[in-house]
Amino acid sequence: MNILVVNAGSSSLKYQLIDSDTNVVSAKGLCERIGLEGSLIEHKQLIKGLKVKYESPMKDHADAMKLVVKYLTDAEYGCIADMSEIQAIGHRIVHGGHFFSKSILMTKDVLAKLELCKEFAPLHTVAHLMGIKGCLDTMPSTPQVLVFDTAFHQTMAPEAYMYALPYEYYEKYGLRRYGFHGSSHRYVSAEMAKLLDKPVEDTKIVTCHIGNGSSVSAVKGGKVMDTSMGFTPLAGVEMGTRCGDIDPAIVPFIMDKEGLTAAQVNDVMNKKSGFLGITGYSSDSRDVENAILAGPSDPNYEKAVLAVDILKHQLKKYIGGYAAIMNGLDAVVFTAGIGENSSILRELVCSDMENLGIELDKDANQKAFRLSDSAKISKDTSKVAVYVIPTNEELVIAKDTAEIVSAL
Ligand code: ADP
Repeated sequence: MNILVVNAGSSSLKYQLIDSDTNVVSAKGLCERIGLEGSLIEHKQLIKGLKVKYESPMKDHADAMKLVVKYLTDAEYGCIADMSEIQAIGHRIVHGGHFFSKSILMTKDVLAKLELCKEFAPLHTVAHLMGIKGCLDTMPSTPQVLVFDTAFHQTMAPEAYMYALPYEYYEKYGLRRYGFHGSSHRYVSAEMAKLLDKPVEDTKIVTCHIGNGSSVSAVKGGKVMDTSMGFTPLAGVEMGTRCGDIDPAIVPFIMDKEGLTAAQVNDVMNKKSGFLGITGYSSDSRDVENAILAGPSDPNYEKAVLAVDILKHQLKKYIGGYAAIMNGLDAVVFTAGIGENSSILRELVCSDMENLGIELDKDANQKAFRLSDSAKISKDTSKVAVYVIPTNEELVIAKDTAEIVSAL
């Protein structure tokens, strides 16, 4: 089944055309600066290996979708004859609140619930709604399915998702841990479970999605027991520009000392912290690692080491903590931009973890870089298997969409 996977941001729209039976991606691309000056589409036809960039005004997501369809059906750059060959559209949705615990067919009722999710993730939800409307305008009879980043985490028990705040905040505002990157944790944990020689119900896996945004999950028996991100994607481990877990009393302290509003402190925690905040020069782990590799004579060396050491320390704590709540650990998975490519971070995290049953194979770890398939990076004697597994959130979206639409 040909599924168009759509990831709509406020001024962007990413897409992939995936055959859910063969997993082949025949085209993918990105519309940028939607509703702004200089909007453009970058389209790749992957079967023929063609690439095109085209500037064209796009006043909204409906205009963007028209261009996407134009390129997908283009005689030279396209891969389908007309849009009737797209059997369904699957949308990546960042926040499904407590309303959605699995992927769902888009209906009027579903859209009404999604509207309520604006409360939790205003910018993302508004963008998703625009993306859905854009698809409705362009392909009114094509079924649309919503796949939520939060859904996989809905299996957490109250003890994991509740904050010890006045209970009424949970009742009034839905204030609880939701967790994010769900499609990624779901994909890599399922792949990992297949690699373990035991029934899924018996597996205990920690998945580390480490990219610009990072989160760690404890997946026991195929279900999330806990995850590091919380009510918002700010919580958990140190990220590119986000601070992760901090003492909450720091917020009013900074407001007072720096004369900032709550919104300004929120901005600092989201955009000026993490790797960027510590190093003062970059949120990108490649820059940070280059300074480490350059050695102590590099002016950025010390801060770069500190930034990476903070992340290492936090990841160790999460892995150990999650092993404790799962009462054991079969495997640790690294995925996403940093998890898939940074042997330095993986080695730091997995060193001195023998007590927990983790023994890294340093050579295998060094070689695991830009993989298209899973790679084992632990020694054969390691009680806990450690793997690098390239994530594939789009495939999860395509598969869920195909499953729901085939059952109609
Ligand atoms: P996003 O959260 O935006 O999807 P990604 O998963 O693409 O993020 O991860 C982006 C991060 O991955 C960046 O910090 C980037 O530096 C890092 N990264 C990508 N390639 C490498 C590499 N070869 N070595 C170290 N880090 C890398």
